[in-house]
Amino acid sequence: MANNDPQPSKKPSSPGNFFQGWWWVYLLIAILLISQWWMWGTPAAKETTWLDFQNNMLVQNDVSSIVVLNQERAEIYIKPERLGSGAYQEIPKENEGPHFFMNIGSVEQFETKLEEVTLAQELDPIPVKYQKRTNLLAEILAWTLPFLIIIAVWVFILRRVGRGGGGAGGFNPFDFGKSGAQVFDDTNTSKVTFQDVAGLDEAKVEVMEIVDFLKNPETYTRLGAKIPKGVILVGPPGAGKTLMAKAVAGEAKVPFFSISGSEFVEMFVGVGASRVRDLFRKAKEKAPSIIFIDEIDAIGRSRSKTFSMQSNDERESTLNQLLTEMDGFGTNVGVIVMAATNRADMLDKALLRPGRFDRHIYLELPNVDERKAIFLVHMRPLKLHSATDAQTLAAQTPGFSGADIANICNEAALIAARRKKDLIEMEDFTEAIDRIIAGLEKKTKIISGEEKNIVAYHEAGHATVSWFLKHTDSLMKVSIVPRGKSLGAAWYLPEEHHIFTRQQFLDRICAALGGRAAEDVVFNEVSSGALDDLEKVTKQAFTMVAFYGLDPEMGNISYYDSNGEYEQSLQKPYSEATAQLIDRVVRELVASSYARTKQILIEHRKELEELARLLLQKEVVVREELEQIFGPRPQKTVS
Ligand code: ADP
Repeated sequence: MANNDPQPSKKPSSPGNFFQGWWWVYLLIAILLISQWWMWGTPAAKETTWLDFQNNMLVQNDVSSIVVLNQERAEIYIKPERLGSGAYQEIPKENEGPHFFMNIGSVEQFETKLEEVTLAQELDPIPVKYQKRTNLLAEILAWTLPFLIIIAVWVFILRRVGRGGGGAGGFNPFDFGKSGAQVFDDTNTSKVTFQDVAGLDEAKVEVMEIVDFLKNPETYTRLGAKIPKGVILVGPPGAGKTLMAKAVAGEAKVPFFSISGSEFVEMFVGVGASRVRDLFRKAKEKAPSIIFIDEIDAIGRSRSKTFSMQSNDERESTLNQLLTEMDGFGTNVGVIVMAATNRADMLDKALLRPGRFDRHIYLELPNVDERKAIFLVHMRPLKLHSATDAQTLAAQTPGFSGADIANICNEAALIAARRKKDLIEMEDFTEAIDRIIAGLEKKTKIISGEEKNIVAYHEAGHATVSWFLKHTDSLMKVSIVPRGKSLGAAWYLPEEHHIFTRQQFLDRICAALGGRAAEDVVFNEVSSGALDDLEKVTKQAFTMVAFYGLDPEMGNISYYDSNGEYEQSLQKPYSEATAQLIDRVVRELVASSYARTKQILIEHRKELEELARLLLQKEVVVREELEQIFGPRPQKTVS
């Protein structure tokens, strides 16, 4: 979902904040260092080895006493009169020691060695004291450090996951249950207006009415009417639902809280419900206001259709909270909840009943005039050549959503820029449309001559069959330039249909089988290149038989699962015998279509071969050339 609007202000974290946030880590390190120093005495004592100690101190009778510390370190005190001269030149007389230290392996070993040397050298016995120094701070740290580390990791995780919901500024664990909705108000206004929304006229009228409810509620309440609480925008992805909501925000000039359904549900249980509460509380404080929940299916999915798993429990409690909040506020509070979804059929019925989201606004994919209007909106900021024509582009893009059109305009500008042009021309738009339909041209993809031959016949097969059938779309061009994953493609100009007859379905299946049938007819061998076609054909045949009741043997029966019940429970709504019948009927349907397709190709083999040769020669064959080969398409006129 495109979102170009400014983000709500977030305080940048300055380096000062960073140091403030981590002060306790620095404090810990400081405490550790100090306690280390305190524990092991003055750093003035020099480290020495047993040999050095034995030969240069002990045997010389220089040692006055030894302190064994914590059974692991021996601190050596030199007789004061020896200091400041000889080997101890560098140690001043006033230094009370310890003057040297060494780490000992074990106390017994140390004692034995000391005794041996003292006896052997007939030295005066040296007093050895044993001391235990415990460092309270270090002990405390040893106990608490693991906990501190765990807490630090926890805080770190909370900070990361809480970022979406935490809102602006520094981290506060208590912000976790806050909604984190994006707010548009006096200081942060949405710049989108109804001017930016092209087409969608009926939806616009309904949405404008909502703006009016908020601005002039008395006009309606005066007559006893209740203002709707919730409005749901339903439409395919990219149809402009979010755009419409932003336009409402821009036009209504009331605070507008925008949040996505998925932002309610986090990994922590209970967060969703409290975020819903928080969102409604804020909206009520600022009433009249609008709450917009994008992708509401993330929380509002029908409860009967979900497995009861942990995450769904969380979603359910969030949904319950949402229902409660919507029931809880009266119609005169001045808060209207808008929501958007692509799957209204998946939503919980409780959400859609009157008193909650009682208004449904359907946004359809744009028709040719609306597409033209959307092209014009998105062409406004572009530098166009005078020959670019929104009408032609709209005619070439049936089935495209508003988002696709926005994408084409941007892509065309990028293509023109890459070609170092000053103005965007029509061919840039055509290239952008091709790219969006079929993916990027891959001119560098190396294909062997033999494979190219197969691809050429395959594509020529699609073209020939669709040309001679009555109910297929008009063919615009055929290409064997590899694009995206495919090695070739045929471009059609789809017509806008709302219903299909059985014959239309069958013709389309034949056109899709044309590629494989051509390979079969020409080479007597088939290849794996027909995967996508076969998938499409199988699905189409299945829907004809199992959903649309278009097969005489199956009769007028539909197993279509509009509310996803069977999809979730992994059951089939029909018996095993019916499953076998469906399988057989689908197979027969595809087989008879294949036979028909082959027949067409055998009849028109001459044209098929001619087109394939032309494709191998030119790679792209356009409509005029197709007409030269096949003659004018008898049944159809091109729009
Ligand atoms: P949805 O929420 O329905 O999935 P969006 O509202 O996010 O779709 O649409 C994505 C983009 O498509 C928008 O930002 C806008 O640029 C473009 N768009 C969609 N519909 C229209 C329209 N009717 N007029 C102008 N632009 C549109």
